[in-house]
Amino acid sequence: MFRSSLSDYCEKDQLRWALMCEACWELIVKADDDEFLDSLELTYVERKLLEELYKQGEDRIVEILELQGEALQEAIAELSEESLGDIGELGKVMIALHTSEVFGDLFEQAVQDAFEPLFNLAGESELLELDDEKVWSTKNKAAKKFVKEIRSLVPDMNQSSTDTLLRSFEKAIDEGNTPSERALLVQGISAIAATGEDGPFSMVRAQRVSRTMSTAAANGGKLEGWKQSEIAKGKKWRSAAGSRTRKTHRKANGQVVDLDKPFKVGKSKLMYPGDPSGEAKEIINCRCTMQLVLD
Ligand SMILES: [Zn+2]
Repeated sequence: MFRSSLSDYCEKDQLRWALMCEACWELIVKADDDEFLDSLELTYVERKLLEELYKQGEDRIVEILELQGEALQEAIAELSEESLGDIGELGKVMIALHTSEVFGDLFEQAVQDAFEPLFNLAGESELLELDDEKVWSTKNKAAKKFVKEIRSLVPDMNQSSTDTLLRSFEKAIDEGNTPSERALLVQGISAIAATGEDGPFSMVRAQRVSRTMSTAAANGGKLEGWKQSEIAKGKKWRSAAGSRTRKTHRKANGQVVDLDKPFKVGKSKLMYPGDPSGEAKEIINCRCTMQLVLD
């Protein structure tokens, strides 16, 4: 079940994501990522560096999700049968886990370490392309703003894993007929989540996070490079090829705006594809890019 059988599959379709096997997902991600990287028109060295950074970011996110899974498993193991069947109690455990500073800080730091260099790489390469006399400044305000924005996505991402798990727990509690059956079902979900086979700590999730952030970093850096060149006038939205691209992004294809003006995408305003200050529903898993407009 690869691309052809997924013709009506949509990038925002959560349910289908959840049902897809991990190997299929990885293949699709790989194909899309190659296409995305091709569209950035990087030199061989830049491309290799960017792939390496992207991989590092993904690996680090996988590690953190694993740690979160283990912490969940430990917390669940400490609960009594009665608490395991009580969604209120489970909610408390989840909130304690996901609002813990340790995970928040680790996650934010990982995201910054991986995607700030990518932002700078994309920006520098665009700037040199347009004017090789100019020197890219890594102390630019845009990079700082970008880092702040991607870091601020982390609490929301943690909230969404809490929500996902709680929905699964709630379903399990509904399905169990006795307290011990309910407890077993809840423990089962937590065990699967902890191994990363499915749910918010899975590889699929790690890829989704790193893909979203790499789109943001590559496009955000590009835009800053164009700005620093002082010759670029506008930008043109290029939606990712394929039927999984959101309708709103396909509609945005070809839209031209001034460099410092946002694109209108669906009901959102985005400075670039993946803009982390935009609504989650318009940025998650986006693989769109931008083209430079000189006049
Ligand atoms: Zn997109």
